Amino acid sequence: MLNLPRAIPALNVVGRGLFAATRFSAEMRFSAIQSINRSLACIKHGDDSANHEVYDVIISGGGMVGSAMACALGMHPKLSDKKILLLEAGNKKVMDKVPDSYSTRVSSISPGSATLLSGIGAWEHVKKLRFKPYKKMQVWDACSDALITFDKDNLEEEMAYIVENDVVVAALTKQLDDLSENVQVKYRSKVATYTWPMPHQELHSIPWVQVGLASGETLQTKLLIGADGPNSMVRRHLGIPVVKWNYDQSAVVAVLHLSEPTENNVAWQRFLPTGPIAMLPLSDTESSLVWSTSHHLAEELLAMDDECFVDAINSAFWSNENQSESVEKASSLFRSALATVMPFAGSPRQLPPSVAGIGPKSRFMFPLGMGHASEYIRHRVALIGDAAHRVHPLAGQGANLGFGDVACLTQLLSQAAFDGKDLGSTQHLLEYESERQRHNLPMMAAIDLMKRLYSTNTAPVVLLRSFGLQATNMLPTLKEQIMAFASK
Ligand SMILES: Cc1cc2nc3c(=O)[nH]c(=O)nc-3n(C[C@H](O)[C@H](O)[C@H](O)COP(=O)(O)OP(=O)(O)OC[C@H]3O[C@@H](n4cnc5c(N)ncnc54)[C@H](O)[C@@H]3O)c2cc1C
Repeated sequence: MLNLPRAIPALNVVGRGLFAATRFSAEMRFSAIQSINRSLACIKHGDDSANHEVYDVIISGGGMVGSAMACALGMHPKLSDKKILLLEAGNKKVMDKVPDSYSTRVSSISPGSATLLSGIGAWEHVKKLRFKPYKKMQVWDACSDALITFDKDNLEEEMAYIVENDVVVAALTKQLDDLSENVQVKYRSKVATYTWPMPHQELHSIPWVQVGLASGETLQTKLLIGADGPNSMVRRHLGIPVVKWNYDQSAVVAVLHLSEPTENNVAWQRFLPTGPIAMLPLSDTESSLVWSTSHHLAEELLAMDDECFVDAINSAFWSNENQSESVEKASSLFRSALATVMPFAGSPRQLPPSVAGIGPKSRFMFPLGMGHASEYIRHRVALIGDAAHRVHPLAGQGANLGFGDVACLTQLLSQAAFDGKDLGSTQHLLEYESERQRHNLPMMAAIDLMKRLYSTNTAPVVLLRSFGLQATNMLPTLKEQIMAFASK
C-alpha cells in the first residue's frame, strides 16, 4: 500500500520537477510577448478591460491569514506605492464588537507568529483585548504512563499564546482600518469567478487575473493571493492538484469552566485511542477544549446534557481504563533504566485541572482532514494558509503555518518591488513555494504520523511510542529542537 505521508515529499519533488520544466518554457515565452500581449489585449478588449480597476495585489479571503497578509503588504515601506485590495465574503469583525464571553474557536499562536503579528501592529491590539500565554505543555498517552513535557528555560519564558480566532481577526481588522490609505478592504464581497491570463491565447486574454464578484463588479490584479481557506476556490479554479484525505475524526470544541481558579499556564493534551483531547488555558478559571474523536462519539458528545459532557471530559483526562498491565510493566522498566542513565532528566507528571461546567451554547464540532496543494503558485497567483495546506489540530500548527507563508511571501514581494520586478512573475513566486514547502511538508508529515501512531491501542505500537516519548522526554536538546521547529 502507498505510504501517503512518506509519499508526499516524493510526489512533490517529482511533480515539481515535471511542472518546473513546462512552466519554465512558458515563463520565457510569456515575458518575451508580455508587452505585445498587453497592447493586443487592450485593443481586443477595448473599453471593457480598461474599465476594470487594476490592482497590484488582490487577496481573496480575509480570515486570520489573508488579513495578516493584507496588513503585512500594506505596512511594508517597499510596497507603499502598490494598490492592494482585500476581499472578504463575511462581515467586518470589529474590535469593540468582540463579545465579553470567550468564543470556542481558538489558536495556539507560536512565538514566531506573535512576532509577525507584532511587526504588523496587530499584537498590541490582541494584548489589549484577550489572550493567555502558557509556559508549559504536557502531552501524555492514555494507554500507558508515558508523557512528555515542554517548557522554556524552566518556565521563565512563554511557550505560546492561546488567542480566540475572532480576536486575531478583529485585531488585524483594526490595523487594516489604520492602514486604509495603503490597503482597501471590501467586506461582504464574495468572489464568484476568476479569469486567468493565458499566455498562449494572446489575442483573447487579458494580461492580468480578472476577479468577478458576486455583486457583478469586475476587478483586475497583477497578483492574486488565494487565502480563501481549505476549500479554496482559487485553487479549485486553477485546477491545482491536492493530496488530501479526511480523518475518521471530528473535533469537538467548547469553553470550559474549571472547578477552581489556578494559575492555568499549562496546555494539556492526552492521546486517547479515539484521538487527542486538549485543554488550552484562556484565563485563571476558563480553558478551551479541542477534543478530536470519532465522528460517532463527537455526535454523542454534542447531544449530551452539560453534566454528562463535563463528566466525559474529566474522565477522558483522568481515567486509566485504556492502560494494560503488561505495557505498564515494560514501560516502567524502560523508565527506570533511563532514569539510571540520566537521573536528573525528564520532568514530573502534573495533574490537569478538573472541569466543573461549560460555557453556554459553546459546543461545536468540525470534521478533520489533511490537504496539501502540490503547487502553491501559478503565473500571477499564490496560495497561502489553509488554501495551500490543512492539518490536524493536534499540534496547533494550522494558522501558524499560514502566518509563516505571510512572512515569507511579504519578504519576497517587497524585494521584487524594490528590484522593480513584476509582482506576479513566477520567478520570485517559485522561491516562495520552495521555501514554504521545505518548512510545511516535514511539519505536515510529522503531524499526520503522530495522528496515525496514536490512533491505536495495539500493545506493540503502544510500547514503541511509549519508549519513544519517554526517551525524548529525557533529552532536553532534542526537546529544544522540537520546540524551536514548532515555534517558527
Ligand atoms: C478544531 C481546530 C483547532 C485548531 N487549532 C489551531 C491552533 O491551536 N493553532 C493553529 O495555528 N491553528 C489551529 N487550527 C487551524 C486554523 O484554525 C486554520 O489553519 C486557520 O483558521 C486557517 O486560516 P485561513 O485564513 O487560511 O483560512 P480560513 O479561516 O478558512 O479563512 C478563509 C476566509 O476566506 C473567506 N472566503 C472564502 N471563500 C471566499 C470567496 N469566494 N470570496 C471571498 N472570501 C472568501 C472566508 O469567508 C474566510 O474568512 C485549528 C483548526 C481546527 C479545525
